[in-house]
Amino acid sequence: MKTLVVMDSSKRGLKTSDLELLGYLEEKGFEVSALALGEEPENFKKDSLPLNLKSFFFHEDLSFYNPLAYVEVLKKQLQQTQYSLILSTASCKTQDFFPYAAATLKAPYINQIKNLSVEKDGSLKIIKSLYSGKLLGHFQIKKSPSFLLVQNNQLRGAWKTGGEPIALDLVLPKNPIQHLKFKRPEKQVQDLSEANIIVSGGRGLEKPENFKLLEDLAKKLGGEVGASRAVTDAGWQPYSRQVGQTGKTVSPTLYIACGISGAIQHLAGMQGSKVVVVINKDPEAPFFKKCSYGLVGDLFVLLPKILKSLE
Ligand code: FAD
Repeated sequence: MKTLVVMDSSKRGLKTSDLELLGYLEEKGFEVSALALGEEPENFKKDSLPLNLKSFFFHEDLSFYNPLAYVEVLKKQLQQTQYSLILSTASCKTQDFFPYAAATLKAPYINQIKNLSVEKDGSLKIIKSLYSGKLLGHFQIKKSPSFLLVQNNQLRGAWKTGGEPIALDLVLPKNPIQHLKFKRPEKQVQDLSEANIIVSGGRGLEKPENFKLLEDLAKKLGGEVGASRAVTDAGWQPYSRQVGQTGKTVSPTLYIACGISGAIQHLAGMQGSKVVVVINKDPEAPFFKKCSYGLVGDLFVLLPKILKSLE
């Protein structure tokens, strides 16, 4: 099954979850090629590139998102090679131009994929999250090409290095959207959906100043701070830190929830996490039913102890 992985490229480099998706598909024996698309990473020429990264298209105009350009590049790729599957991981860009490209080509599109496997009869079986993760849907695709978006950090593998990709030569269509200016938010937040460790806080933190405890812990662990909706609604943390149904979907290796009750809408955003640690003073908090480790106690007592032990 000829498969193309589309990798989001920015000045910082290729997206880790795209690289891991490529590694996963290599491990599972897919006939996979990758295409890097976007801005040229600062270290692109010096980096050891993935073996199956066959082509790239970088253009300074792609520092401003231009869906027409992305779709044009994909269409050109599909004219050259008959790919059966075009895959990527979810980002604000791919969630926009994947369905657009699929609609343009009258191709099927499935998002929020948690797993995919090739059956004995050669067909592709897809498992995707439905209703904010309350249900898993099983699907089969019978049309080629198909566009598939995988949830971040779900399909992970080690990718081989040694690639020598070629640059695509294309004329970009004019962007009908004119970008006037960008304004940075006051607090800089790394994209939570990419974070490997998240320390999240809820209403149990009592006031915004107390998030310093979580910031210290996140810094020690090399992670990021997340929040429940109660916290972002109260303005204690920016919305970009909210985890859940109406916030970010995250799947870090470690998720530490402090003073969060574990409402279904919060769980919907973090249930892909590998190890979940819950700190809550109420032993009946629903989060304790969904965690790997639970600490029943006052976070204002426990967090300083954890921080001290990490020193
Ligand atoms: P609370 O429910 O008030 O829980 C606070 C917890 O802190 C309690 O369990 C308490 O025991 C504990 N606590 C208090 N003091 C301490 C202490 N000193 N030490 C230890 N523990 C302490 N919520 C989200 O998070 N994300 C979403 O995306 C989201 N989307 C929603 C969408 C819809 C349509 C709706 C209706 C709701 C949504 N919600 C979302 C809200 C959700 O239902 C909950 O109201 C919210 O998650 C509660 O936040 P919380 O756990 O921080 O607060």
